Amino acid sequence: MPALDLHRLTPEFVRNFEPYIPSQPDPELMRLYRIGHLHRLNNNENPLGPPPLAREVIARFPPPRAGIYPSGDSWYLRQALGRRFGLDPDQILVGNGANEVITFVIKAFCQEGDNIVTADRTFAVYEWVAKFSGFEARLAPLKDFGFDDEALLRLIDRRSKIIFICNPNNPTGTWWDQERLERFLEAVDGQQIVVLDEAYCEFVDRPEFPDGLQMLARHPNLVVFRTFSKMYALAGLRVGYLAGSREVVDTIRRTCVVYSVNALAQEAALAALADDAEHLAATRALVAREKAYLLEELGALGLPVQHGEGCFMMIRLPLSDTMAYRRLMQRGIMIRSMTGFRFPNWIRVSIGSHLAMEAFIAALRGILPGRS
Ligand SMILES: *Cc1c(COP(=O)(O)O)cnc(C)c1O
Repeated sequence: MPALDLHRLTPEFVRNFEPYIPSQPDPELMRLYRIGHLHRLNNNENPLGPPPLAREVIARFPPPRAGIYPSGDSWYLRQALGRRFGLDPDQILVGNGANEVITFVIKAFCQEGDNIVTADRTFAVYEWVAKFSGFEARLAPLKDFGFDDEALLRLIDRRSKIIFICNPNNPTGTWWDQERLERFLEAVDGQQIVVLDEAYCEFVDRPEFPDGLQMLARHPNLVVFRTFSKMYALAGLRVGYLAGSREVVDTIRRTCVVYSVNALAQEAALAALADDAEHLAATRALVAREKAYLLEELGALGLPVQHGEGCFMMIRLPLSDTMAYRRLMQRGIMIRSMTGFRFPNWIRVSIGSHLAMEAFIAALRGILPGRS
């Protein structure tokens, strides 16, 4: 057998990267923890599921279509998004989840020696993609749990190519208003690409909350991310997109892999967009109601919380979050432990159905020290 010199073949930045290990499938976990039911409250999934028209499209997808390649550039979906948001469809690129469009942007703009700038406690994929691609990720500490514009600006140097802002921020729920975002963009002055990740924007109902898509015309260096995974509950089909100025998107398009968005995902997203008004309203009402319920119960338990906009909440526990994860799993509740996200002793819980929230509170009561 020939000797394989994997060390020589593998770049140092790949060797040094700690791979992210996704959780096992639910049936495996249920066997492992000996539980008959599992409430998934770890991924910010919408408990209402996809909007009605999307459900129909999914149920009626003709099996022979599985043998045919989809539109390579999500043609009809880009047309619909363009009409909806007043953009040229060529200002939009669709990917296999917003996760994939993160890789498009980094590949398009970074080369050896370049860096990206973001916060130290935000959606981790920006940092991960930069690192395993060989680029430095410069991380500004959060201030009062939110993105700190001044700290971000201080980290920028001549080799900074992209600044990632998560608005509202996952996991803290904090957000920049229109004025603050405008000031930040003015300070950046077109010297970097500014990515505004709006994965949770559909959950926000506040007049001061900026709509990145409406700002593209005035800011050619702005790139906006959105996803069908959260509000539209199509996480399992993987569809997200980015939008930007024509020139910027024409550049990013070079690094896209065509056919990465499957036919069912494209059609379901199109249908989800077509009748979303009631779905949005029902989801927002559910999130508001269940957040209020959680806040009351967590207040009674004396647990500190951090929350803002979005369908999730952080809770600080008087025990290790990894221990809490295991003990909650034993009670049929899956949450996100936050040590890996630089928030030791915190957990993040997705806002779910009332049944799931009651089950979560009951389980939490059961694992807190000094109670039974
Ligand atoms: C969930 C999430 C995404 C990615 O969603 P996809 O499922 O890949 O479309 C991107 N950004 C943030 C902040 C998220 O929470």
